[in-house]
Amino acid sequence: MFQESSDIRELLPYFRATFALPFLIRWQKVRLRKSNSSTNKGNGCDSLKKYMDLEDMSQANCASVLRVIQAHSGISRKQIADMTGLSWGGMTKIVNKLFEHEYIVEEKNGVPGGFGRTPGLLSLNREKHFAAGADINKTGLSASVTDLLGGIRRQYFAENIFGDKEGLLCNISHFFEKIFQDFPEGEIEAVGIAMQGGIDAKQGISVSFPGCRDWMDVPIVHILKEKFRTEIDLEHDPDCMLYCELEHVDANHVILLRLDRSIGMAAALNGTILRAKGILEVAHCTVVPGGKACRCGRSGCLEAYIAPCLKDGKIQKAAVGEMIAPLAAAIHNLTCIFNADTVILAGELMRYSSLFEGRLRLEIQKLQGERKTEIIFTDGAGSAVTGAALIAASRAVERIKL
Ligand SMILES: [Zn+2]
Repeated sequence: MFQESSDIRELLPYFRATFALPFLIRWQKVRLRKSNSSTNKGNGCDSLKKYMDLEDMSQANCASVLRVIQAHSGISRKQIADMTGLSWGGMTKIVNKLFEHEYIVEEKNGVPGGFGRTPGLLSLNREKHFAAGADINKTGLSASVTDLLGGIRRQYFAENIFGDKEGLLCNISHFFEKIFQDFPEGEIEAVGIAMQGGIDAKQGISVSFPGCRDWMDVPIVHILKEKFRTEIDLEHDPDCMLYCELEHVDANHVILLRLDRSIGMAAALNGTILRAKGILEVAHCTVVPGGKACRCGRSGCLEAYIAPCLKDGKIQKAAVGEMIAPLAAAIHNLTCIFNADTVILAGELMRYSSLFEGRLRLEIQKLQGERKTEIIFTDGAGSAVTGAALIAASRAVERIKL
């Protein structure tokens, strides 16, 4: 579904179309202005129609209308027509279909489902059509089922104790069974999975999983789709965390580092999350030439300083002391590369941030001089699940078929 490319610029338009948070109005407006040229019937759309299947055209328009209603609760029909560039007739047809399929509700004078000739304001129906986000993590399984606005309907947690691949698959499968049995068939329209370890998001493959030696290239999306018959997307967990955090952060370029036994990184430039296989692998970047030995066989890697900080779930104070300067160097280098104005530090290590936050800020400041970067410390609890659910909700809207 995602095209991988060595040239990130080729990917940006697609990211903008699918990944910009539909809930952030400022981005939505930009995107809608861009999409007007492809949906406006008076704007060259006739020629486009020749090349597009009519059904696709209709699906694109339905998604466009639903996206607008998702981003602007209590919107009028006129506003929808203006923002999508659809004709009044075309917009009305789609709105009526969305009513028919219970995607939207209408409020008249603040009363849901009121009667009268005056058209009311439209919002998403929060009682139907759900998305789910799941976090598959070595330390546990968690999930949320949300409405298409991201409002949580139900949450799930389970242990994840496994010996081998079969055990892990069994845990995941039972966990999903519990979720799906709580909702009528077809009601959960899309699932986003934030998964630890190596993943191939495009192919839906979990390449590796920490602590599971025989887990190699597992087609997890295919396996779960076969069983639960819904749309499923696999995502890097730092991407999901960043997707969630972007809801609260007002910045141009943002970096997120997830620090626990390993290091995960995500980056968003102008609100667009960078995605391509094999990029942003910072764990084995050299931060101290000739420094501590790393499990990869080299020395001075960032991971060689981060990993020893947590042992058997306990913080190791001496290792934390050694970690501060190398981490500050890594953060400084990354802010230079991405011109980042905000860095979010998340993950298990942040539970103990009181032990190092002050010293780390000081080290970063020393390296940065005049440069001012906002550093946010968050344990990110639940943000991978929330981000995965938001991504799923966004995809459910994109894929709408009426
Ligand atoms: Zn290494």
